[in-house]
Amino acid sequence: MTILITGANRGIGAGLAAHYRDRGEEVIGTGRSGAVRIELDVTRPESHAAMARALGETAIDLLICNAGVYLDKGADPETGYGADLWAQTFATNVTGVFLTVQALLPNLRRARGAKVAIIASQMGSSTRAPGGSYIYRASKAAAVNLGRNLAADLKAEAIAVGIYHPGWVQTDMGGPTAEITAEEAVHGLAQRFAALSLETTGCFETWDGLAHPF
Ligand code: NDP
Repeated sequence: MTILITGANRGIGAGLAAHYRDRGEEVIGTGRSGAVRIELDVTRPESHAAMARALGETAIDLLICNAGVYLDKGADPETGYGADLWAQTFATNVTGVFLTVQALLPNLRRARGAKVAIIASQMGSSTRAPGGSYIYRASKAAAVNLGRNLAADLKAEAIAVGIYHPGWVQTDMGGPTAEITAEEAVHGLAQRFAALSLETTGCFETWDGLAHPF
């Protein structure tokens, strides 16, 4: 199985890359820095084009759209949430996901029964809206919506799309007091990705296998 991961240089993405490598899978780690096989800044269309050129006709069985930013953590409602943060966050968490899928469609089509996993967040659920973090929440809600609509369109091509909440994870983003380790998140997510099928395409699930409300 050939697996391409965005944001594979640290955090959950690095954990997923190590997990699949340990199991003998072909992992194509991408990122904008660090030890990655292909450089990819998901916000830059020219970076996607260069990745597509580097991959050529390589078939991708599993694409994991993991790269993400959370720039408005703890922002002040009076003075925070600047327009630049909205633009940067959406460029990464939403546009970045779309451009990645779009660039890799030819490679996904080359695999038999390819899958796309979008790492969203429970913070993108509109049924769970405690307030704050407006930018991150809105971007992840958009990522969920994008995943749902990609699932509808790609079903005809036998490409399944799943959307996931990885848990509150001990990474740079989640912080040291988060509920679960990156290893726990990775093991749960890998099981979810394995279970994803055309029957369940468009699902929004937690790392430990619960259906997440939209
Ligand atoms: P980290 O902050 O630890 O890592 C984020 C990763 O995304 C890094 O590899 C980073 O690369 C990459 N990235 C950010 N911007 C870009 C870009 N423009 N192009 C390419 N790569 C980029 O976060 P986590 O590992 O915790 O998060 C992974 C995913 O899980 C994210 O989508 C996040 O929103 C989601 N998530 C995480 C939760 C948590 O508790 N940790 C909870 C819910 C969801 P670089 O080193 O270059 O910055």
